[in-house]
Amino acid sequence: MTLTQKTIRREVGCAGIGLHCGERVNMRLLPAAPGTGIRFRRVDLGGREIAVSIDNLHQTSFATQLTDGVASVSTVEHVLSAAAGLGVDNLLIELEGPEVPIMDGSATPFVYLLHEAGLRRQQAARTFIKIVEPLRIDDEDKFIAVYPAERLKISYTIDFDHPLIGIQRETFLVTPRAYTEQLAPARTFGFLRDVETMRSLGLALGGSMENAIVVGENSILNPQLRFPDEFVRHKILDAVGDLTLLGAPLLGHVVAYRAGHSLHTDLVEKIRDTPEAWEAVTWDDIVYQLAARRPVTAPVAV
Ligand SMILES: [Zn+2]
Repeated sequence: MTLTQKTIRREVGCAGIGLHCGERVNMRLLPAAPGTGIRFRRVDLGGREIAVSIDNLHQTSFATQLTDGVASVSTVEHVLSAAAGLGVDNLLIELEGPEVPIMDGSATPFVYLLHEAGLRRQQAARTFIKIVEPLRIDDEDKFIAVYPAERLKISYTIDFDHPLIGIQRETFLVTPRAYTEQLAPARTFGFLRDVETMRSLGLALGGSMENAIVVGENSILNPQLRFPDEFVRHKILDAVGDLTLLGAPLLGHVVAYRAGHSLHTDLVEKIRDTPEAWEAVTWDDIVYQLAARRPVTAPVAV
């Protein structure tokens, strides 16, 4: 677990199309000072900055969108997931358009980009949000909960009424290595039957088999899956990204059942609004708490 805050060493960039807007967007990642967190900057709108915070959440029907009331950025979750997965605290993400490029539908291109930039430790302690009381939100038969834990762990279950997906269940301790190898490559997915509806709403205009797993009635249209349970892994990737709206890394065990962006962000809101359920701690605090918990050795009679 990283003890100090991290940013990137140098500026890097990429370009790609927005999943929903269908337009080509240039994106650049730049280092940021300790304590600034992750911020988006719309260079096409005079450099307006939007902080990654639950206070700036706009809507979450198909993707996570942030706004400062004037400018907005959408489909932020995959690049944020990559930053969180690698433990990047401070980052400026410049965009020349309204949406983060979808790339191949996974977080791996952003992981590569962050590795290309190189990670740099900063002279400031990292503050974590450590869950001390469980929290749970139910939405009909779906739920999301978080329990006290020393690390970020996510257990996720999906249950789609579709013969090619069905029930998939995974638990991951979100370390940079597990994230990079087991979660980042999992691509977003969509159902062929929803494509017409989404396009009529002006969504998924840039969607294709190049950037999503497309699920038909009886088959998956892409040549192959990257993992047999790529679908549930992608949901964990999304959750890691949506949890960045907390503004600090989470220490807790998140358990989600048939959840999605809106339950992920509801949990972030609930954590924000329930300060008695968590503590803001640094690594030194954690070491101190662990030492205090160790049983005291009884004096030996001589
Ligand atoms: Zn996603």
